[in-house]
Amino acid sequence: MAGLLEGKTIVITGGSTGIGRATARRCAEEGAAVVIADINKTEAQIACDEIKAAGGNVMFVETDVTDSAAVKAMLEKTVDTHGSLDGAFNNAGIEGAFTNIVKMTEAEFDRTVNVDLKGVWLCIKHEVEQFVAQGTGGSIVSTASVAGLVGARGGSAYCAAKHGVVGLTKSVALEYARKKIRVNAVCPGVIETPMLDRLMTETGLDRAAFENQEPMARFGNPREIAEAVVWLLSEQSSFVTGIAMPVDGGYTAL
Ligand code: NAD
Repeated sequence: MAGLLEGKTIVITGGSTGIGRATARRCAEEGAAVVIADINKTEAQIACDEIKAAGGNVMFVETDVTDSAAVKAMLEKTVDTHGSLDGAFNNAGIEGAFTNIVKMTEAEFDRTVNVDLKGVWLCIKHEVEQFVAQGTGGSIVSTASVAGLVGARGGSAYCAAKHGVVGLTKSVALEYARKKIRVNAVCPGVIETPMLDRLMTETGLDRAAFENQEPMARFGNPREIAEAVVWLLSEQSSFVTGIAMPVDGGYTAL
């Protein structure tokens, strides 16, 4: 049976580790040619080796998503190599500074919003340009967060950026709904990734107590986000656009 993404070329930003790496692996398993775009070369190599060892088609293009020219060049390289772009997962992000607004510096706010919101905006802009140039349409998924749906203490920059990703997603979905371009977001709850490890270390939170606050009394696995992203990238979700889908083990139902 053909995979859900057979014959499609999918770009994944932040694909070197965590949610992006798990999604790169799942997309390759579903038959896509995957392009990992990230700043972390070392981890990208490991991700690519894993995917190739499992028989998948993957390449890495070093890309900083805050650099418009780099994003454009990465998409050009993708199209030169594979002939077209069919989908994108705009997932690169940073946790930024998690601290009270009075203590947060303007530089920390700017850094967080630059990667987590402007980086996604730049990717969507250039991906849509490519879809329009091809005349084929396509599917875009971006990683917001439950922090794009509700607030979090200490998250004035991160939550502002992630709420921004949700607004950006809805707006571009409406702009291109009649051009076969679908634009959606996923809103992960707390997921076991290097980002979570860093946050736990920095905040000194008790892991077991934090996990026990979750409705399912556990954190999510990156693969559980990847499953939703594969569905949104595939034709299975052909009537779905402009949504911000929680994949959060019930976090936002609380
Ligand atoms: P992660 O740190 O493992 O992955 C983030 C990836 O983005 C890394 O590979 C990193 O190198 C890359 N990256 C960072 N800045 C970049 C830049 N400027 N250009 C290109 N690549 C860059 O963390 P993760 O948890 O897998 O995070 C993935 C996404 O999921 C992020 O957008 C994050 O905000 C979001 N998210 C994570 C959680 C969670 O609990 N882990 C929850 C909700 C949302």
